[in-house]
Amino acid sequence: MSEVRKALDAFIEIANDPRAQLDAVLAEGKKAVGVMPYYAPEELVYAAGMVPFGMWGAEIQVSESKRYFPAFYCSIIHTILDLGIRGEFKGLSAVMIPLTCDSLKGMGANWRYGVKDIPVIDVAYAQNRKLAAGVEFTESQIKKIRGQVEELAGVKISDWALAKANKVYNENRVECLEFTKLAASHSKTVSLIDRALVLKARYFMARDRHTVMLAELNKLLAALPEEPAEKKIVTTGIIADSPELLGILQDNGFTIAADQITHESVDFRCLADESIDPVKAMAKRLAEIEGTSVLYEPEKERNAQLVQIAKACGAEGVLWVLTKFCDPEEFDYVPGKAALDAAGIPLLLVEIDQQMVNYEQVRTAIETFKDII
Ligand code: SF4
Repeated sequence: MSEVRKALDAFIEIANDPRAQLDAVLAEGKKAVGVMPYYAPEELVYAAGMVPFGMWGAEIQVSESKRYFPAFYCSIIHTILDLGIRGEFKGLSAVMIPLTCDSLKGMGANWRYGVKDIPVIDVAYAQNRKLAAGVEFTESQIKKIRGQVEELAGVKISDWALAKANKVYNENRVECLEFTKLAASHSKTVSLIDRALVLKARYFMARDRHTVMLAELNKLLAALPEEPAEKKIVTTGIIADSPELLGILQDNGFTIAADQITHESVDFRCLADESIDPVKAMAKRLAEIEGTSVLYEPEKERNAQLVQIAKACGAEGVLWVLTKFCDPEEFDYVPGKAALDAAGIPLLLVEIDQQMVNYEQVRTAIETFKDII
């Protein structure tokens, strides 16, 4: 087996078995804190010597969560709560729940009722996050959560430790971005599923460990000759790690040249300013993130960014991966389509759900899209 394949498989093993990662952390005597989407201040958890554990749902069929949320809520919400009720997150010291969309606003109460043994840390950010007053409000919330995390860990989080956490996260963001470029230029060696799982693994392990592994993989990829990419597309949406969807794209010869996926590049394109107070740096970073429907953008900067990303990487089209029943994404799609139409960039919308079993419609749509572009 090649060195690259071995390195890729190490990430895949981690991404495919989050519970094993959590058990390993607990066996070391460390504490772990669950981190639900989106943009919870998990750097505080790292700075306190605990391990943040990402919670983005899973490809499972739910049953218990339907007693708490109506069936027309998105699968991320349903599957996270269902896993919680089933006891899949046993051992977490707490969960951070950001209130970034209407569905997540109901999660705190339902979690407290359905998963009684894991306490909740609510994460509220300023809606007008870019205004000076918004940054100030976000800072005040991060400080409040800092106190809660300190209590949980039983240690004080020094400014030095938090500044170090920002640095560790920045280093990871840089390697992740580099990896997305290398995956695009080595599309035969790195399959689309490999790409998604390498990035996904970072949610289930300490970021510095992910960085070390990824830097090694990036070095190996950079040493290989580039492989010409065919049918380059940009993906946009909340999450796009469905093996079925990625398998269909792979079968049809598509390369993800870049992405604007909240679960992927949107999370690591923006760095924290390491030259200022670490809490302010976290609040400022939140203000500067672009390209996601879950953070308020009065001017819908996401659209201009999407066009710019597509043009910069020479993409032949954009794939909008819409998470079923996600209001923020549905609202964004209309102006997003108008911007892409105006720029002459072909667009395909596919609706995805973590509980989906039949992908035939998606397959047909993608095959047709291939013929169009
Ligand atoms: S997918 Fe949409 S509705 Fe569901 S949690 Fe995310 S933003 Fe909210």
